[in-house]
Amino acid sequence: MASIEMRNIVKQYGDGFPAVNDVTLDIADGEFMILVGPSGCGKSTLLRMIVGLEDITSGDMVIAGKRVNDLAPRDRNLSMVFQNYALYPHMTVFENIAFPLRLAKTPDEEVKRRVAEAADVLELREHLERKPANLSGGQRQRVAMGRAIVRHAEAFLFDEPLSNLDAKLRGQMRTEISRLQRRLGITTVYVTHDQTEAMTLGDRVCVLRKGTIQQVASPRELYEQP
Ligand code: ADP
Ligand code: ADP
Repeated sequence: MASIEMRNIVKQYGDGFPAVNDVTLDIADGEFMILVGPSGCGKSTLLRMIVGLEDITSGDMVIAGKRVNDLAPRDRNLSMVFQNYALYPHMTVFENIAFPLRLAKTPDEEVKRRVAEAADVLELREHLERKPANLSGGQRQRVAMGRAIVRHAEAFLFDEPLSNLDAKLRGQMRTEISRLQRRLGITTVYVTHDQTEAMTLGDRVCVLRKGTIQQVASPRELYEQP
């Protein structure tokens, strides 16, 4: 687990208006932080700078007390869950979840143990030998989360993970993500434009506008007007 500290973070694409403009934000160890704001306000860019998929123009990104500006994604030990959970269709559920461990050349015995552990948490035990095509949308999303948790990463990063799901499944997955995050106690940054997700999942909500922070507040402070 790790805290994430952003100090005066700026992202400038080309010579236009900065996509992220002087963002300073501390996310505590184990905290669930939501990033909200209108399309184009810089949510994804900020998330991608945390994970290392986007260079930082200026400022400091500090994860677990260590400045990571110049670290490659693979050296940051973070897990990102995308909207289009990219599962490999030719691989079983087991191999899809195991994939990051295979990349890291983890010994077979440990792969088995950790995939079983992830499958337990996500209730995927009976589905380990199936292929993604034979799973429901919710099960596929859980496999994608299995791949994220199997690495024992320092933090989870979600980029609108539920926006392609129907309302019923979205509700189920909200519960699932909340349960999982509390059980693992893992630092989480979650981008959404869904107010229900922000209210039910977040310890705090950070509202972005045109690349800057408008406010940071608890869901209650933000959404329950007096
Ligand atoms: P959000 O996730 O809140 O919708 P983004 O982070 O995707 O916002 O985008 C913030 C701003 O940066 C937008 O004005 C967008 O057009 C711009 N932008 C995002 N990615 C790029 C890119 N690769 N090149 C140039 N501009 C970009
Ligand atoms: P390459 O080595 O071919 O440039 P990538 O840049 O796609 O490969 O990824 C390198 C490593 O960075 C991956 O092994 C993975 O651990 C990490 N990585 C890439 N994308 C992400 C992401 N979205 N979330 C977390 N880690 C990532």
